[in-house]
Amino acid sequence: MSDRKPSPFPILLNNDVCSLIQAAEDVYQIRFKNRAANAYLVRGSKRTIMIDVGLSSNYSHLLECLQHLGVKPSDIDMVVLSHEHLDHIGAAYHFTGKTIIAAHRLAANKIMLRDDFSMLRKMFNEPNVPIDVDIWLEEGNLIDLGNFRLTVMYTPGHTSACISLFEQDKGLLFAADTLMPGGVMGGVFGSGSIADYIQSLERLRGLNSKILLSGHGRLSDTPQDDVRIAIQRSHTLLSDTAQLFDALDARSNFEPIMQSVRDLNKLDDS
Ligand SMILES: [Zn+2]
Ligand SMILES: [Zn+2]
Repeated sequence: MSDRKPSPFPILLNNDVCSLIQAAEDVYQIRFKNRAANAYLVRGSKRTIMIDVGLSSNYSHLLECLQHLGVKPSDIDMVVLSHEHLDHIGAAYHFTGKTIIAAHRLAANKIMLRDDFSMLRKMFNEPNVPIDVDIWLEEGNLIDLGNFRLTVMYTPGHTSACISLFEQDKGLLFAADTLMPGGVMGGVFGSGSIADYIQSLERLRGLNSKILLSGHGRLSDTPQDDVRIAIQRSHTLLSDTAQLFDALDARSNFEPIMQSVRDLNKLDDS
């Protein structure tokens, strides 16, 4: 027996590889059962978009879910990429033709320069397909789907290039790896920063969000609780990091980096 209350979000399709869950009217979560991040479909009255699309190898399953809703890939006007990690963006490669691919300018730059280190390409055993970004997004941009108006919020921390999308009237918060159900944190990667992460979470706390649509895990109807826990955890991570930094003797760890910069500059002088 479990005393967890049943999920308020109806499951429309569920098989071995993925499930399709309704988050709100015309808003759907596609959840994969491998390492791919969640994909979202928002079907507006004027435009239809996806927010993240999962791994390239998941594309056929993504199509299956879209088909279940009567949506063809050519019906997708825009794919918004939350950040540069491959588990969120890989399948964007398959959206050719009129679908516009959009990402924050820092993510777009990494993706366009094929910065495999930033995209975590080695972590995912995927075909090396090039993804092209058409529109570079910034804080404050608005994506108008007719009955949905999504505001782009620049929320760095997990990486330098993370965005969240917020639909104020409906209280929908698409927070990718910045905020997850239960206050689970996405971790701080190469270009990220725990201090930026805390500031981004504080901004998300200030929103009157009702449904949290994250990059991993279930949908949540308690985003206020989730963000409160995440902020507590991020402060713990900050103090843990400070202790780790002390323990590592920072000077000896910086020396090889400084030396490689000196060597590089020497080459340039000659
Ligand atoms: Zn990520
Ligand atoms: Zn992720």
